[in-house]
Amino acid sequence: MNLDDIKKVTVIGAGTMGNGIAQVFATTGYEVNLVDIKQEFVDWGMAKLTKGLERLVKKEIITQAEQEAALARIMAGTDLKVAKDSQLVIEAVTEELGVKVDLYKNLNDVCPPEIVIGSNTSSLPITKLAASTNRPDKFIGMHFMNPVPMSRLVEVIRGFQTSDEVCVLITELAKKLGKTPVEAGDYPGFIANRILMPMINEAIYAHWEGVGSVEAVDEVMRLGMAHPMGPLTLADFIGLDVCLAIMEVLHDGLGDPRYRPCPLLKKMVQAGYLGRKTGRGFYVYNT
Ligand code: NAD
Repeated sequence: MNLDDIKKVTVIGAGTMGNGIAQVFATTGYEVNLVDIKQEFVDWGMAKLTKGLERLVKKEIITQAEQEAALARIMAGTDLKVAKDSQLVIEAVTEELGVKVDLYKNLNDVCPPEIVIGSNTSSLPITKLAASTNRPDKFIGMHFMNPVPMSRLVEVIRGFQTSDEVCVLITELAKKLGKTPVEAGDYPGFIANRILMPMINEAIYAHWEGVGSVEAVDEVMRLGMAHPMGPLTLADFIGLDVCLAIMEVLHDGLGDPRYRPCPLLKKMVQAGYLGRKTGRGFYVYNT
């Protein structure tokens, strides 16, 4: 398949990442299906996407007409079968191996064999995910960063069986979306989260052990290390459940105790304090 053959993309999962990915494809001119399991999740994603486009209009990055055209290119719903008419599926569902593998089983039935599948997983092994599909040569990691419309990076992760053709295709596609693709090896956390997540986890430990308040930890990293956002603010932004899932993948996959998720992170996830998306994490938000 060539880049020009891709006309319609199905994005699965309308959460933090999925709606941003759908927005970027739609503003680049692609027809987009945005699919989630429940209509309320679809509506949440579409509301966030619409707000994102409005922000771009206000900043004069796109015109009102371009906003309307992008919205008109998006079909949002709960029926996975729409994926059969697209050339590319981007999976952005919950960071749990079982959830993703179950979804791929359904995609095996729905999607003709030529459809390429890209996973936005932050940390799960691409080779293992690929092996649970009926097209491991057409499966690849396409890891967008949060917030998708603003972030310039896409990590491209090829699995053991990913074909050269698909690797080139996804690299070229990332460029067409205005991103810079960087190839990363298929190891836990790839490059981005191998480095970022232990830093966030350490910030949570520092706070938990009483080294500094939430605000103090963030302020030190912002002012002292010139991070645009403190690590605890960033954790809320990413989602504490996502942070925990990634730390568990690093811990299991690398087998080193230094990747042990902080007990406070576990407690907060158990309590449902997932960050911005639930209105409460290390900070409280008006959602
Ligand atoms: P999220 O929890 O915000 O959204 C996940 C969405 O997937 C939910 O709306 C959920 O209902 C939906 N979903 C679950 N199972 C589904 C299914 N079978 N079919 C359709 N929809 C389904 O999660 P997120 O933060 O958007 O993360 C999604 C993926 O992106 C994960 O793999 C995560 O690791 C990755 N990622 C996240 C970030 C981040 O900053 N949050 C950054 C890069 C990559």
